[in-house]
Amino acid sequence: MEKKIKRILIANRGEIALRAIRTIKEMGKESIAVYSIADKNASYLNFADGTICIGGAKSAQSYLNIPAIISAAEISESDAIFPGYGFLSENQSFVEVCSHHGIEFIGPSVEVMALMSDKSKAKEVMVKAGVPVVPGSEGALSSIEEAKKIALEIGYPVIVKASAGGGGRGMRIVEDESKLENSFLAAESEALSAFGDGTIYMEKFIQNPRHIEVQILADKHGNVIHVGERDCSMQRRHQKLIEESPAVFLDEVSRQKLLETAVKAAKFINYVGAGTFEFLADSDRNFYFIEMNTRLQVEHPVSEMCSGLDIIEQMINIAEGKELPSQESFKNKGHSIECRITAEDPVKFIPNPGVISKYNVPGGKDVRVDSHAYSGYAVPPHYDSMIGKLIVWAETREKAIAKMKRALMEYEIEGIKTTIPFHINMMDNEDFINNKFDTKYLEKYMQK
Ligand code: ADP
Repeated sequence: MEKKIKRILIANRGEIALRAIRTIKEMGKESIAVYSIADKNASYLNFADGTICIGGAKSAQSYLNIPAIISAAEISESDAIFPGYGFLSENQSFVEVCSHHGIEFIGPSVEVMALMSDKSKAKEVMVKAGVPVVPGSEGALSSIEEAKKIALEIGYPVIVKASAGGGGRGMRIVEDESKLENSFLAAESEALSAFGDGTIYMEKFIQNPRHIEVQILADKHGNVIHVGERDCSMQRRHQKLIEESPAVFLDEVSRQKLLETAVKAAKFINYVGAGTFEFLADSDRNFYFIEMNTRLQVEHPVSEMCSGLDIIEQMINIAEGKELPSQESFKNKGHSIECRITAEDPVKFIPNPGVISKYNVPGGKDVRVDSHAYSGYAVPPHYDSMIGKLIVWAETREKAIAKMKRALMEYEIEGIKTTIPFHINMMDNEDFINNKFDTKYLEKYMQK
C-alpha cells in the first residue's frame, strides 16, 4: 500500500541536512530544516521550504531533544522525519515516539533497530542467519573469569567492545592475560559513561584487517538489493577517513559471496530501509560480520557514484511503500573515492573550529562536493568536526586517485585548519596507490 509523503522534517544538521534537502526538492516534496541556536546562520537553511529553531547549541538541547523535534514536526505538519546519521538516527525511543504521533520515521522498525543496535545480540542473530562472525563470546560477558576463559579458547590478542558502542569508542585491544582485567574494567566504564550501558563482549582481534561493508536497500514488499561494497580501511583510531567503492582487495568470487551474504542477512531479519553490514576481512579474504548500521552512512555517496542510484530517494520511496528497482536494473561501474574533510589539524587531528575566511570548491566532471560550508561560515565547536566530503568517480581506481588529487588541490579553505593536506599526501602515498593498507595502517605510518 503506497502512502505519499508530502513534507519531510530533517532531524539533523550540516552536510547531511543539505544533502537531504536537495533530494527532497528534486522529488517535488517539501523539506523542513530544524536548527540549533549555534546553526542559525547556516546558509543551507535558506534552501529548505521551512525552518524551525529547536533549542540551544548543545546537542542535548536541540538535535537530541525528542520533544522539540516532534513539536517541530507537528507544527510544520510534516508527515515524515529523515534522521540522517548520528544524533537520533539509531534511537529506539525516537522511532517509537514518531510512530505514536503518526509520523513516518524514514528508517527501519524499532524491533529490528533494537536487535541490531546491541552489537553482541546482533552477532548472535547473524550466526543464526549463517553469516560468518568474528570468533568470540556468544553475547555479553558476565565476568572477568568468563572473559579469561573465552580469551584462552580463541587465543590472544583479543578485543573487548561495548555492545552499545559506536564511533570507535569503548574498545580495548588485549595482548595477553596480564592485561585482561584492566582492559575489561576500562572498556566497561568507558561504555557506561559514553553509552549509558556497560555491557561488553569479546572478539578475536583480527590482525591487519580490511574494513569492507555492504550497502543494502530493503523495501516493505520483501525485496532486498545491494548497492555494492565499500572499503573503509583507511582509518584513524577506528574512525574512517577515506572510503572507496568497489573494494579492489576482493576478487570476483569473494565479492559475490560477500554481497550475497549481506542480502541474505537483511532478509533473515526482515529489514526495511537502507542499512549497512560491516565486515572485517583477513589477508585470505575471509570475511567476518562485525556490526550493522541501521541508517544512512556518511560514506554512502561512493555507492551512489558507482550505481547511479540516489540512496536517500530510495529511502523515501521505501517509506512511501514503493517497490525497489530490481538488482538487475542497475550495475555498479567504475571506481569512486570519498575523502572526509574535517576542521582539524591535518597532522594531529585536533579540532579547529572557527570562521572560514575563503572557500572555493573544486568542480569538473564526476567531482562531487557534499558540504554545507561557505566563505564566512563559522564552524561551530559543538558538533562533529566534519565540514564536508569530497567525492570523485572515474573508470578505474588509478584515474579516481588522480582526479581526487586534482580536486583536493582546487579545494581552498582558509581561516581554519582542515585535513585537506593530509588527503593530498595520501593520494601520493605509494601504499595507498598500491592498495597496501589495512585498518591499522595510519597508526604505523604516523609513528614513522
Ligand atoms: P564502531 O561501532 O565503534 O564503529 P566497529 O565494531 O564497527 O565499531 O569497529 C570499528 C573498527 O574497529 C573496525 O573498522 C576495525 O578497524 C576495528 N575493529 C573492530 N573489531 C575488530 C576486531 N575484532 N579485530 C580487529 N579490528 C577490529
